[in-house]
Amino acid sequence: MSDQTQSQTLLKGKLALVTGGSRGIGAAISRKLAASGATVLVNFAKSEKAASEVVAAIKEAGGAAHAIGGDVADPAQVKRMFETIDRQHGGKVDIVVNNAGVFLSGPLTDFSDADFEKTIAVNVRAVFLVAREAAKRMGQGGRVITIGSNLGERAIGAGMSVYTASKFAVAGLARGWAHDLAPRGITSNLVQPGPIDTDMNPADATVNPMAESMRQLVPAKRYGTGDEVASVVAYLASPAAQFVNGATINVDGGMNA
Ligand code: NAP
Repeated sequence: MSDQTQSQTLLKGKLALVTGGSRGIGAAISRKLAASGATVLVNFAKSEKAASEVVAAIKEAGGAAHAIGGDVADPAQVKRMFETIDRQHGGKVDIVVNNAGVFLSGPLTDFSDADFEKTIAVNVRAVFLVAREAAKRMGQGGRVITIGSNLGERAIGAGMSVYTASKFAVAGLARGWAHDLAPRGITSNLVQPGPIDTDMNPADATVNPMAESMRQLVPAKRYGTGDEVASVVAYLASPAAQFVNGATINVDGGMNA
C-alpha cells in the first residue's frame, strides 16, 4: 500500500464529530479527518450553508460526511444532537473534536454579564457536555481532542481575560480526562493554536486591528492556517498516537516558546 493510500485509510470505519465544523479551523479539521477515512459529522449552530459546503467538498473528494445542527452552548440541543447520532449513526462515536468557540473581548470594567456567560457556555460548558456524551459512546481507541488556545497558558494583552480564562479552563478539563478515560483505552489531548487566519482572527490587518501586533508576537512572523492545526488533530486521532495522552501541543509558530 502506498503511503498516500495508507493515510487515506488510517481512520476508516471511525465516526468523528467536530463541533463548529462549519467554518475556520473546524472546517479544516473536518476535511482532514475525512481525508484520513473517517466519516465526519460536521456540527454547526448558525452556519448551515457553510456546513453543507464542507460536507459537499468532502464528498467531492471521495470522503464521507454529514452536517449536524446543534448549538453546543445549549444543553438541550447537545442532548438532541446525540439522540440524532444514536438514531442515524448507530450511537458509537470514535473521535470527538471540541472545536466550537467564540472570542469576545473588552476591558474588565465594560465586559457584560451576557458576554461572560456566552464565553463560558460555548468555550467551557459545551466542551464538557459534548465530551461527556461522546465519551459514553466511545470504546477502546477513542479520542477526545480539545481545541484550546495558546492564550490558555499565557495572558498576552489587555481585553482578553475572559477568553483566556475559558481556555485555561479547557486545558484543565482535557488533562483531567486523560486520567478518567485512559482505563477505557481512550486518550484526551489538547491542541493550542496561536493566531490562525479565520473569521475569528483574520490575518488581514485592514479588517483586523490586532493582526499586525499578533503577527509580531509569533517568531515565525506569520499567521498559521486551519490546515496546520488540522494536521496535528489528525495525528492525535490516528492509531500512532495511542500512547499520547494528556498532552498539550501548541500550533503557534513558537509564540509561547
Ligand atoms: P471561527 O472562524 O469564528 O469559527 C467558529 C466555529 O465555531 C464556527 O464553525 C461556528 O459555527 C462554531 N460555533 C460557535 N459557536 C457555536 C455554538 N454555540 N455551537 C456550535 N458551533 C458553534 O473560529 P476559529 O478561528 O475557527 O476557532 C475555532 C476554535 O479555535 C475556537 O475554539 C477558538 O477559540 C480556537 N482558536 C482560534 C484561534 C484563531 O486565531 N483563529 C486561536 C486559538 C484558538 P456557526 O457559524 O455555525 O455558529
